[in-house]
Amino acid sequence: MNAHIHPKGTRAVPYYQPSADECDLFATAHARGLPLLLKGPTGCGKTRFVEHMAARLNLPLFTVACHDDLSAADLIGRHLLQGGETVWTDGPLTRAVREGGICYLDEVVEARKDVTVVLHPLTDDRRRLFIDRTGEDLAAPPGFMLVASYNPGYQSILKKLKPSTRQRFLSIGFDFPAPELETRVLQHETKLDEPRAKALVRLAGHIRKLSGMDLEEGVSTRLLVYAGSLIAGGMPVDRALEAAIIEPLSDDADTQAALRDLAATVF
Ligand code: ADP
Repeated sequence: MNAHIHPKGTRAVPYYQPSADECDLFATAHARGLPLLLKGPTGCGKTRFVEHMAARLNLPLFTVACHDDLSAADLIGRHLLQGGETVWTDGPLTRAVREGGICYLDEVVEARKDVTVVLHPLTDDRRRLFIDRTGEDLAAPPGFMLVASYNPGYQSILKKLKPSTRQRFLSIGFDFPAPELETRVLQHETKLDEPRAKALVRLAGHIRKLSGMDLEEGVSTRLLVYAGSLIAGGMPVDRALEAAIIEPLSDDADTQAALRDLAATVF
């Protein structure tokens, strides 16, 4: 099971640069027992935001990267054979409910349909998790919060969040941070100097205007962080841009050439 667990306890709060009032919204949603959906492109800070808020609220965090094979049993748990005996093992969602933590379902739209059936009673005022295999009916404690993310850009006719599911969540639309904020993020994450951090963000602005034409999606903040790390680590700028931005964004020679031309106008 591909779950990432951050236990409760004193831990450093991961750096997160807010864009607006999203931290207050998250904290209030948590206090009121409401589920939250984060919508936005990949690599724009959604996961970092959840990690930051979980640490600030001192809650355990169970992150699950959803994929098209992920089933309700992966989230809830299953009987496993241990030394000749079958033992029930909680999945990450059940653990989050029992321990009163945050369960973060990254790219929830990828998961199998049976997952939504499990989420519905957890996302309305019942806040309950039914475990049919063990006959348990758990009431989620006040600490529990369900957070999910999805990328509207990837949406296809086959994979859309159904209104009956999405209308159970508060939603926040995420996008890449505004230029000054993204520059700050780059400097913090990579220790790159300000002029070169600003240049990377300018380049990103140009590339994002191109997206939709030849590129499926604009360059993510994550890729800018990679580029900044290579440059701050001593790699020549051209090589860093090639490995962190141009190659990851496209396999097409013409598109790559266009990206190189854009980079040359900035650096
Ligand atoms: P997502 O979950 O949206 O795909 P992440 O949260 O993993 O993206 O963000 C990718 C990287 O970009 C993070 O590891 C972090 O370095 C950086 N990042 C993006 N936005 C922010 C932000 N607002 N504050 C701090 N770091 C950010």
